[in-house]
Amino acid sequence: MAKPVCYSTKAFAAASATAPLAATTIERRQPTPTDVRIQIQYCGVCHSDLHFARNEWHFTQYPAVPGHEIVGKVTAVGGGVKKFKVGDTVGVGCLVDSCRTCPSCRAGFEQFCDAGMQGGTYGGTDKYFGTPTLGGYSQSIVVTEDFVLRMPANLNPAAAAPLLCAGITTYSPLKHWKVGPGQKVGIVGLGGLGHMGVKFARAFGAHVVLFTTSPSKVADGKRLGAHEVVVSTDAAQMAAQAGSFDFILDAVSAQHDLNAYFNLLKRDGNLTLVGAPAEPLPVAAFPLIMRRRSFSGSFIGGLPETQEMLDFCGQHGITCDIEMIRMDQINAAYERMLKSDVKYRFVIDMASLK
Ligand SMILES: [Zn+2]
Ligand SMILES: [Zn+2]
Repeated sequence: MAKPVCYSTKAFAAASATAPLAATTIERRQPTPTDVRIQIQYCGVCHSDLHFARNEWHFTQYPAVPGHEIVGKVTAVGGGVKKFKVGDTVGVGCLVDSCRTCPSCRAGFEQFCDAGMQGGTYGGTDKYFGTPTLGGYSQSIVVTEDFVLRMPANLNPAAAAPLLCAGITTYSPLKHWKVGPGQKVGIVGLGGLGHMGVKFARAFGAHVVLFTTSPSKVADGKRLGAHEVVVSTDAAQMAAQAGSFDFILDAVSAQHDLNAYFNLLKRDGNLTLVGAPAEPLPVAAFPLIMRRRSFSGSFIGGLPETQEMLDFCGQHGITCDIEMIRMDQINAAYERMLKSDVKYRFVIDMASLK
């Protein structure tokens, strides 16, 4: 494959695991016949960005440009592009490509591609250059049209940006486990993921119970759509919920007691983990085997389901609760994110990257 011509675009990158992110210039390919070039307007700040920038998953190559909650305007399209035209508002999430041929890709579950995260928006491998992919903390990006998403026109584009990761990560398991009216659904943790879990579970018609360790988040949980908020450190409140849930979405990325939540499930109930704690979580057998409960995981979503989620959000007016920052505030934002001091997602105004 002939290497496409490059152009330069401004970005914010980490030069090493310990360096703060700083302004730099990176190279992107000029659009090939199937590519879309996007002027990035907004990029959400995901906890994964911080893990990646600091090499906490031990695969980061530097310079590292995070960012996979991208919304922007199409500024150029390749000659073969059919779905998009210049001026369209589009989104790019955690994937910019996949192998396209494995069983998962063929089924539209590109997030489970046999090639792993080779197609990741950052930290993947650019198929033209063989170099690491560079994410959305930049002025522009070039993506094959198959991995570009249509953004609903009625949604605030900044508040819609985190739908591309936080949104699909919570929407996908709620759909997979067929959450709907008549069901009691728990959401564990009120952060970037959890607050979207509450909104989707509510929109799907379930009775929604939010679990939080922070009594200060009770009022906000109800404002976001929870019918009940349980303070999980209160043993009496937890005991009152025993054996009553059809489904629990666990969005906590820190160490916590899964078994306490298994006990809240009904017979055949399921708990799905979408948080990614670094250390293994102990699982006791009895809470699972006694009521045929199940424990599973879920990871973002494929392209078809991500588009479905965006369209659903357009129909129901669902966006994320965000705090807008300038690009040069990103290092401070990471420190605040580590303290859960954000309601509930930072979004970078990419016009601030000059
Ligand atoms: Zn993410
Ligand atoms: Zn694949």
